[in-house]
Order: sequence, then C-alpha cells, then structure tokens
Amino acid sequence: MNNFDYIQAGNINEALNAVSTNDKAMFIAGGTNLLDLWKYNLLHPDLLVDINHLNKNQPIEEKEAGGVRLGAFVTNADTAYHPLIEQRYPLLSKAILAGASGQIRNMATNGGNLLQRTRCYYFYDPDVPCNKRNPGSGCSALNGYNRIHAILGTSLDCIAVFPSDMCVALAALEAVVNVSGSKGARSIPFTDFHRLPGTTPELDNNLQPGELITSIDLPAKGFSENYSYLKLRDRHSYAFALVSVATGLELEGDMIKEARIALGGVAHKPWRVQEAEDFLKNKPAIAKSFAAAADIILQEAKGFKYNVFKIELAKRAIIRNAMMALQPETQLPGAQPSL
Ligand code: SF4
Repeated sequence: MNNFDYIQAGNINEALNAVSTNDKAMFIAGGTNLLDLWKYNLLHPDLLVDINHLNKNQPIEEKEAGGVRLGAFVTNADTAYHPLIEQRYPLLSKAILAGASGQIRNMATNGGNLLQRTRCYYFYDPDVPCNKRNPGSGCSALNGYNRIHAILGTSLDCIAVFPSDMCVALAALEAVVNVSGSKGARSIPFTDFHRLPGTTPELDNNLQPGELITSIDLPAKGFSENYSYLKLRDRHSYAFALVSVATGLELEGDMIKEARIALGGVAHKPWRVQEAEDFLKNKPAIAKSFAAAADIILQEAKGFKYNVFKIELAKRAIIRNAMMALQPETQLPGAQPSL
C-alpha cells in the first residue's frame, strides 16, 4: 500500500512552500509520466501537490518584446491548437501533435513535457542495473538491446535518450524556461535546461530541488514561413522517435539567411550543432547544402550494437526535413516533398 497525502495549491507560492518543507513531496500536473513511474515503483512520494488548476492564471499570451509566453500548466493540446501557436509557431504545434496520443496531450502540461523521464526499458525494470534509476549499479543498455538509444553525447554511464517531441521544437526556437523556487525566480535558456548524462545520469535537467517551471518564453522569430517537423518511428502513431528533426529556415531568395536544426531521439537532450547552422548561412537552399550540414551534425556520432542505423537515418532525416521546410505545403498530412 502506498500511503500519501494530497493537497491542491492555491497559487505558486503555496506550491513552492509545500515542497520546500518536505523532500518527499512532488508536484503533480497532468501526471501522465509521474503515474507511470509510480506504478513501476520508481517513485514513492508521500505528498502530492496538485498544481493543475493554476493554469487559469497562466495563459498563452503575447509579450511586449514580440514573443509569446506559454503557461507551464497549460496542456499540450491547448498549446498546439492555440491560434497564436498555430499561426506564429507552427513548428511547435506540429511537434506537439507528433507526440503521444490525443488523450495524453489533453492531460499533459507544458512544464511536465520538459520533465518527462527517459523511456529506456531498463530504467523501468527494477530487476536490472540502471545508473539513472540506481546510481553506480551499471548500465544495462550499453551491452543490451540498445535500438532506441543515443548516438550523440553518450557516456559509459548512460546512453538513454530524452523522449519529448515538443522539446525538439523548443530547442530549435531557442525558447527560455522560467522557473521559481525558494531562492527566487530565474530563467534558463532552453539549450541549458536538459543535461548530458556524463557521470550523473540520474540528473535529467538543471532544475534545483523544489524548483517549479512557471512558464516558457518563445522569442519573436517563429520561422512560420519555412519550417518542418519530421518524426521517424517504428509505428506511425503513439510511439517515441527513433530520430526526429525540427527545422526552421529564414530565406533570402534561394539563399539561406538563418537555419535552425534540432534533433530528437538521438541524445539525452534535444541536439543542436551551432557549427552546422553557421555553415548553412549564405548557402543555397538545396539538398547538397543540407547534406553537408548533416555530416557536420553527425560527425561525433557513435552507434552501439543495435542502433548504428540511426546515424544514417538522422542524416537522411535532416536533408528530407529541410527540403520539406522549403515547401510549406508538404506540412499537410501525407504530402511528400520533391527532393
Ligand atoms: Fe539506465 Fe541510462 Fe543505461 Fe538506460 S541507458 S539502463 S536509463 S543508465
């Protein structure tokens, strides 16, 4: 029997106070990953602090600087279908809708999406070693069945991938994560939010204990003219990415003025390579340019026994997705770009 207490926080300060005085307390918003982890016996909170209804004070709204602020407690579905997001940040809308199922997106919140744990199957199996679940016990995936695992940024302690689709688009858009804690509020650039495993794979991100994500800021530039999100997976629906790519392009005629390319399904965090994006500046927007950028992005890639295929898959996905970004009409379901 798992006994636990439950309270509804009336506001953010109430939520922070409840967690700061109890190190076994946890926030619950949509709960779509937390309840999984609890059922698998990986979490044992003795107090749940419900922050769901705080979304009434945390809408999606335009900011004075021209960007848009996403409330952390707004659901993924309400975000993806919000007119501001559909019109100004269609890359984000498309990435969100590529994830999970309609039912899960109706429950899952924006803040929770950033905090979901890896879907490495060894992590969920308490009978096998896993450094992320039990630091120092070993990594069962290193010499195990590692088809879904990382090819970039790995360590000998963990080769798990971060499973979000939404976060791949947020990385490409250079979002900023706003958090609050007992020591005050701070903002974290998206690329600094999630961590590589290194020797501490138990830490997925740089949140401090007791800190709460309150909102996510999108910069003014949304790449709404030339964008694409491509998710490659074993099953067309309700499956995590083997490789995904979020691409935003700014063009001047046939030339690339700015490019953003973020990969999902390949590392412990959404993966961007500045050198590749710099390379694309002032290059013609053709497959050959994107192929050269793909080689730069994957130059450090290292495959394991069952996932070497991901290196070539990622390169092809980068090229294909960039060509789709040149043809916005290919964003329609079922449409194919002419390569
Ligand atoms: Fe655990 Fe990471 Fe190894 Fe998976 S890859 S078994 S999460 S240490």
